[in-house]
Parts: sequence; C-alpha cells; structure tokens
Amino acid sequence: MHVSSLDELVDFLHARLDEDAHDAHLFHELACPRSVAPDPSATCACPCPASLLAAVCVNAGILRRYEQRLERERQCGLVWQLELILVFAGLKAMALPYELHPAWRDGWYP
Ligand SMILES: [Zn+2]
Repeated sequence: MHVSSLDELVDFLHARLDEDAHDAHLFHELACPRSVAPDPSATCACPCPASLLAAVCVNAGILRRYEQRLERERQCGLVWQLELILVFAGLKAMALPYELHPAWRDGWYP
C-alpha cells in the first residue's frame, strides 16, 4: 500500500462528500420555495435534503476520526503502522459507493 494512495483516497472522499452536500439541495419538494428560487438562507421541511445532509454529516465525522487516527500514528512514527492498514480498509469501504466516479482507482476496492 502506498501512503500517497491513502492520501488520495482521503481527498477523494472529501470531494465526494462535498458534492453530496451540494447535490442534496437538488431534492426539494416541488412546492418548496427553495426549489423555485434557491435561497440558501431560507429553511424548509423537505425530508430528502435533510436526510442526505444527515448522511453526509455522519460520513464526514467518520472520515475526520479516520484522519485523526492516521495523524496520531504518523506522529508516533511506528514501524508497523497498524492504524494505517485498518484506516485504509475502512476508507475503501466508505468509498465503494462512488466506484463509478471518474476519479475512482481500481486499487481502492475493499
Ligand atoms: Zn425544501
């Protein structure tokens, strides 16, 4: 495993989560005022964007914890980097739903 591949996977996941957060706003109900004239300051009760944003928030939290584990291990400078291996496996599982994205790499299959 190359560390650069791991860092690329982290960047890949950040970009996909940013896209998901952006795209969540495309799923307002037809009657919602935000679907007609998008106003980021307006609030609504459409269930779909809220659900999508909640999933993004959960995944962003998981990604942040993985990054913290990597950073802790890198600071220790261990020879056998177990966290790196475990985190890479977890990140690959997180990234699998995006396997059809053009930036996906075949080395990321879990
Ligand atoms: Zn709405």
